[in-house]
Amino acid sequence: MLQIKNARIQSASFGPRVQAVDTLVLHYTALDLEASLRVLRYRGVSAHYVLAPDGTAYKILNNDEVAWHAGVSMWRGKKQVNSRSIGIEIVNLDGNKEAYPDVQIAALAQLCQRIVQENPAIRPRNIVGHSDVAPKRKVDPGTRFPWKALAASGIGLWPTPSAATAVGSDAQIQALLEQCGYARPHGYGKKGETYVMVDDPAAPPAGVSGVVPVGTRDILRAFQLHYQPGAANGVPTLATQRLLEGLAAAQ
Ligand SMILES: [Zn+2]
Repeated sequence: MLQIKNARIQSASFGPRVQAVDTLVLHYTALDLEASLRVLRYRGVSAHYVLAPDGTAYKILNNDEVAWHAGVSMWRGKKQVNSRSIGIEIVNLDGNKEAYPDVQIAALAQLCQRIVQENPAIRPRNIVGHSDVAPKRKVDPGTRFPWKALAASGIGLWPTPSAATAVGSDAQIQALLEQCGYARPHGYGKKGETYVMVDDPAAPPAGVSGVVPVGTRDILRAFQLHYQPGAANGVPTLATQRLLEGLAAAQ
């Protein structure tokens, strides 16, 4: 049975909810439990829940408050995913290397189901990872995260591969990625102390520096981190094409 403990935020790093919630974003913390709770309760970032390795969920913010977990992000053509999402930070030091314990994943499944009951606009296609909404910039929850198993219980989508016989052009791949919710090519850079999204990395607005371009291959790698974890290198293979077409058809 899922145990939820109150761990109310102690900083001002959150905001009022203005837009309706329709997205759930999953992360790994890259910190142990104690450090995760310290950072997410007292520092400049936050989340709605921190999920411990033993399956205990620490509730930091209410769903009607905006947590600062996704940063510069885009999903289904809309920027600033924080404004309409719930964020769960899963305690794991590196989800691209470290397995997620079964007890933690069982608790996560219950927590996600509870959140979806409370926010029915969160469809399976909008239960995603930080890497899905912030390609290139973020790689969590990582290739060890059991997306396929969770999709079997309705948490997120898992594609049935299409029967494609050839890999599409980058333009065709980009169109499929966007159909699945992923960002169009863009960039991100720093304006003062904060990161901002840049529509055209070749012509950033005044005052934005250190611009990193995010292209189709970077966005494809985000797709692979989620759906093809054994081949997350941004290079499309026939298997990638089939999975991508399968996911696009499931939208
Ligand atoms: Zn994250």
